[in-house]
Amino acid sequence: MNADKYNLEVLNKIDLFFQLFDDMSDLVYLTKVEKDGQFSYVLANEPAKIFSGLTNQSFNKPLGEVLPEVVFKIIETKYKQAIVERRPITYEDMIVVSQNHPKRPQYKYVPGQVVYWESEITPVFNQDGVCTHLLAVVRDVTERRERENELKRLNDRFELVWNSVADAMYIFDRNENFVSVNKSFVNLLGWTEEEITKDHTITIIPMNSKEDLKEIIERVKNGEVVPSHEVQRITKDGHLIDVLASYSPIYDNYGNWDGAVVVYKDITDRKMYEKELTHLALHDYLTGLPNRNFFSKRLKEEMIRAERSKRTLAVFYLDVDKFKEINDTWGHDIGDELLKEFSKRVKACTREEDLLARIGGDEFGILITNLNHKGKAIEIADRILTSLQSDWVIEKKPIKISSSIGISFYSPNYEQDEKLLLKQADIALYKAKEEGRGNFQIYSK
Ligand code: GH3
Ligand code: MG
Repeated sequence: MNADKYNLEVLNKIDLFFQLFDDMSDLVYLTKVEKDGQFSYVLANEPAKIFSGLTNQSFNKPLGEVLPEVVFKIIETKYKQAIVERRPITYEDMIVVSQNHPKRPQYKYVPGQVVYWESEITPVFNQDGVCTHLLAVVRDVTERRERENELKRLNDRFELVWNSVADAMYIFDRNENFVSVNKSFVNLLGWTEEEITKDHTITIIPMNSKEDLKEIIERVKNGEVVPSHEVQRITKDGHLIDVLASYSPIYDNYGNWDGAVVVYKDITDRKMYEKELTHLALHDYLTGLPNRNFFSKRLKEEMIRAERSKRTLAVFYLDVDKFKEINDTWGHDIGDELLKEFSKRVKACTREEDLLARIGGDEFGILITNLNHKGKAIEIADRILTSLQSDWVIEKKPIKISSSIGISFYSPNYEQDEKLLLKQADIALYKAKEEGRGNFQIYSK
């Protein structure tokens, strides 16, 4: 009685086992290793039978007679490898479902379909250590593979875009370390991705920008997209470059802040152009000296400084004597050369801190700052007049010139602005012309 029940239980368990075996979605094959080294199937679950087209006649028969030759060759190699290496081996392959595969609605595969498989072949050994069987479990990994392919496709597309954009871009992580940089970044900053992601001591941030950057990273951490703003960065060879930088936060799968993507637009050319324009707006193209605009601005600033430091300053107004005659006699080009030479000579008579400017035509201004006493200015005026007396040879032509100088001094007590100061120097200049030219006059009421 007991024995019967026991047998029945065992029977039920075996039924249950085969039920589960056939219900598995993996294909399972049990192969016997024959004495002569041939292989034959002894067991296969239902999905395996359907997929490989196995019938009752397919078992206990050399595998070479059961499977198509190409399939047999692959399987045979892998079986032998598992036997030799005495361990489970795994491999992946792609199979196009055979045209002989039965086409029924309840079947998973249709003829011609591409399926990716991952197979694990486990050798089974007897007590003597001889491999008697091989268990093959074959898993359909098509979905995983397609997801991977899709991911790779997306990644390839991203890489293409990432490396085609003209702006330099990089990603940093929550520890503020570089994660990835694009091609334009390498071109602009000079560091390769390998160098900058591996060596955390590399920096592209100038000392004086570190505080600003801290503040920006704080904003990005709080979820803010920091729009384009002008900054300077350091290249690998130590140059400072001007860029427009913008920062956008990145989050991980849980919504936590995980770094940022940064875009640098190179504006070096624009900045250079701007500098050139600013220079042009404030300088004279012929002599390269500051122009009237520059002169007035500096004069204004220096007047404030002079008032604070209780020192005085002088304004010289110079005008070349009879310059029209020079143009008429020698030509305008020689006149130009003479103006250049004139500015060099006058400049050499001033001190480093004085400002010589071309006010217009043959008129020059000198701003003499930081004066303890007026005598120093008179010394400089004398020096200029003397310097102009030595021989002039312009394009091999001996030319004699002189200049008249009008001088005004700034006294904070009187309500002088920079225009008035210049005007007073101009009045003094007029006086010098009247006095016969080639001399200086100091303005007085
Ligand atoms: P004065 O002693 O009274 O100053 O006589 P001047 O002939 O120098 O008369 P004025 O200063 O009024 O004339 C300046 C001349 O400078 C007029 C103009 O033809 C000439 N000039 C102005 N700008 C330039 C320039 O860039 N190049 C040259 N070659 N000549 C210029
Ligand atoms: Mg003149």
